[in-house]
Parts: sequence; C-alpha cells; structure tokens
Amino acid sequence: MEENYDVVIAGAGPAGAQAARDIASRGYDVAVLETEAEDRYPAGSNKSTAGTFPRMMSAFSIPDDVVMHYTDSVVLESPDDSFTLGKPGAVLDFGDFKEFLVEDGEEKGAEYFFDSRVFEPIMNPDGAAEGVRCSGGEEFYGDIIIDATGPAAPIAQHEDVEIVDLERSKQAIGIEYELDGVDTDAEGYADLTDAMMLRLDHDIAPGGYSWLFHTGEDTAKVGVCYLQNEAHTEHAEQGMSVDDYLQRWIVNDPRFSEQNIDDIEPLEMHRGSAHIQLPDNFSHANVMAVGDTVPSVDPLWGEGIDTGMKSGRAAATTADEVLNDKKLGKEVDPAEIDLSAYDRRWNQDVGANREPRYFITQLVYNLGNERYNQLMEDLNTEDNSTLAEINNGDLSKARKLIHFGDGKPLFKATTDTMRQKNKAIREAEEWVKEKTSNLGL
Ligand SMILES: Cc1cc2nc3c(=O)[nH]c(=O)nc-3n(C[C@H](O)[C@H](O)[C@H](O)COP(=O)(O)OP(=O)(O)OC[C@H]3O[C@@H](n4cnc5c(N)ncnc54)[C@H](O)[C@@H]3O)c2cc1C
Repeated sequence: MEENYDVVIAGAGPAGAQAARDIASRGYDVAVLETEAEDRYPAGSNKSTAGTFPRMMSAFSIPDDVVMHYTDSVVLESPDDSFTLGKPGAVLDFGDFKEFLVEDGEEKGAEYFFDSRVFEPIMNPDGAAEGVRCSGGEEFYGDIIIDATGPAAPIAQHEDVEIVDLERSKQAIGIEYELDGVDTDAEGYADLTDAMMLRLDHDIAPGGYSWLFHTGEDTAKVGVCYLQNEAHTEHAEQGMSVDDYLQRWIVNDPRFSEQNIDDIEPLEMHRGSAHIQLPDNFSHANVMAVGDTVPSVDPLWGEGIDTGMKSGRAAATTADEVLNDKKLGKEVDPAEIDLSAYDRRWNQDVGANREPRYFITQLVYNLGNERYNQLMEDLNTEDNSTLAEINNGDLSKARKLIHFGDGKPLFKATTDTMRQKNKAIREAEEWVKEKTSNLGL
C-alpha cells in the first residue's frame, strides 16, 4: 500500500491530533498514523492525569464534555506543611479528550489510520524524508513528516534525522490510580476539595513528586512520578518500584481508605513516561518533532498537554507557510523545505524561559524533606506576583527562596543545566563512556 499526503503525522496523542486539526482545517491532505487499534484506542496510551488550565481549554476549543472535574486551587505539600494558590483548572478524562481531538480532526478532513505503528522514515538522497514505513510494511508519503509519537520517537531519533536524543536519565516514569473513598478534607492536611495537589516528599516519591487531583465527590487521581537521576538514587530504597511507592503511600496516608495493599482496587490505572530535558533541535529538513517527542513537557510542573498542543499548532502554522504554494498550483520540493520557523516558534511560544525553569526544577528536586517544609513556609510569605515571576523563570526573584546551606543542590542544579544546555559536553561524556567500556574499565 502506498499513500501520498501533504503532511504525514505519526502518533495520535494531543500534539499530533492538534497538528492534524489545524492542518486539515487549512485544507491540506493529512494522514495520522496511530499504533493502537481503533477499537482499543486510547486504552493503551491513556497515560495522563490530564490536569490543565483555562488557557489550554479556550485556545484549543476543548469542550466541557471531556472535563471530569473543575478545580479552583493548586496545593503544594511538603511532609509537614502546605501552600495553597487560588487558580482555576480542569482535570480531564484523558481518553475522552484524545477521542474528541481525533473525531474533531476527522470532521475537519484528517484521515486516521489505526493499527499503524510507524517504524522508520523513508529518506531520499537529499537527506529529506519522503515518507514513513510502518512495521506491517505500509508506506505513507508526504511533503512534510511530523513525529508526534511521544517518547517512542522512531523518526526524530532515527540516525538519518537525529532531531532528538532522548536521555534515559531524563525519563520521568509515572503511575496513577483513580481511587474512590478519598477524604479530600482530612484533619491535619490542607483542604484538597476541588484542588490539584502536588507533594514534594522523598519518602513517597524519591527525587520526584506525588499528586492527588480531586475528580469530584470522594474520587481522585492519585499518583507518583520521578526521574531515575541522582536525587532519586540518593533517596530511593533498595528494591522499591514506582508501583511500590504509590501503593505504600495509599496504605500509609489516612486520606485513603485502604489499609492493606491487597485491598487497593483502582477504578482505573494509568502509567507512562516523558522526558524532562532541554531540547537541542526541533526539525530536520522536512521533518518536525512535536509534543513529548521533542520533549515539550514543562520541567517545573510536568504539564505536557498545553505545551504539546502548542507545539502541534506551531508545526501546523509552519507547514501551512511552507506548503501554501501548492494551493496556488505550484510544486513543492521536499528537499528545499526549510522548517526553521518552527524552531523559532517553539522557543517563543512553547518553551519560553525554559532554561531558568529547568534550573529551578533541578534545584527543587535536589532539596531534602526538611528543606521542603521551609520552602512551603517561604511560599506562604510571598505575594502572588512574585510567585508568578518565579514560575516564569525569573531567577532574580527565585533568589528569595534560596537559603544558606543550599550550596550542594545549587551546584547540582547548575552542573545539570550546563550539561543540558551544552551538547558538546554530553557528546564528550558519551565518548569517554564508550572509550572506557572498550578498554574494559
Ligand atoms: C503519569 C503521567 C501524568 C501526567 N499528568 C499530566 C497532567 O496532569 N497535565 C499535563 O498537562 N500533562 C500531564 N502529563 C504529560 C502529558 O500527558 C504528555 O505531555 C502529553 O500526553 C504529550 O502528548 P503527545 O501527543 O506528545 O504524546 P502522547 O500522549 O504520548 O501520544 C503519542 C501517541 O503516539 C502513539 N504512538 C507511539 N508510538 C507510535 C508509533 N511508533 N507509531 C504510531 N503511533 C505511535 C501513542 O499510542 C499515542 O497515541 C502526564 C504524563 C504522565 C506520564
């Protein structure tokens, strides 16, 4: 089978499906290839807690039907303290949200092919990708190819494309249960009714965070996620998996009704991963990478839906500029396509202030539990505008939260950010690793 399109998109997650909606509504032929079978979709890729904010809902016209629960605050917890910020939000049913994006894209003219696992790009001699090949041998050809497969990235990581190099040590793994019998206003804890709560506590999520997002009445999405990095190694217990950490939290925390691991019966379970790293590139010749493939997840809050959708939109806008001549009846040569405008859009619209925000994230995860209590105390004394500036990556404001004794976490955050910013340092590390292993060291 051989098909020709203006744009071929691999992956029907939020980023790919949003790019398809935008490209199809501009009148181009677009094919979306999704690995899951249609009758199961999106059970296998239903990975997200899907907490989001009004900005995303209105910018991408997301209907209320996919919202499980509207929230009105974000709560940060440490082992013994908390900080509450009034901020409206919405917890989506991620599966319903994905289905809406697909249906809306199809109405706009996008063609979806399920059960189509993209395997590799089909390259031409000029170094552009003519199309993609699926593992069943099907080939789809397009002037522009978009990799939106999340961390799988079969095109963006391919040796002939090399847009990204997703690092194992930067892969955050997460698991969550949808639970009932949750007490959102338990004595001794912050009121989590209609709230999204993130908890910094190395005993529950070593080197990461855990969460409880209220989904109405006595139900909530409850999860744990962490990167397998230095902070995790420092605090992790031998033999404990991410599942063990979540189950232990549920058994030990009085807000959950289950007292024994064997009694935990989640209404649903979601698991997945995303990389928290600073991207070097976003496109190559006529190929763009969007969403978690880049990776676009916000380093500070793990928010990947809004950023993924924005990157899908930036890719669609760029594709429209590049392919517009086709609408005027002119030929477009894939080898001459220049997608550098996408890189600029990504830096401006998707990942603005990413480096300082990445630095702040590294600093936070390298603090200890006692220091987290102090952080909550400090946050409670700051006004909302200072917090907004810190959240935007303003390091001069973030300095207010730094204490004497933070030298070690500051050093770790600085070296990690430098390494992320500097591809040459990472390549040199790889070279040394390879040489020492060749020598048997
Ligand atoms: C546990 C967890 C909790 C999260 N919570 C939140 C949250 O509360 N709020 C928030 O904003 N973000 C959250 N995120 C992040 C957010 O879910 C992701 O950033 C977002 O889903 C990224 O969208 P995407 O389209 O880039 O990738 P994905 O959602 O990963 O979609 C990729 C799609 O490509 C398909 N695919 C994969 N490989 C192939 C292939 N080879 N060929 C064809 N198709 C393929 C997959 O089946 C999938 O449909 C969370 C992530 C995790 C793991």
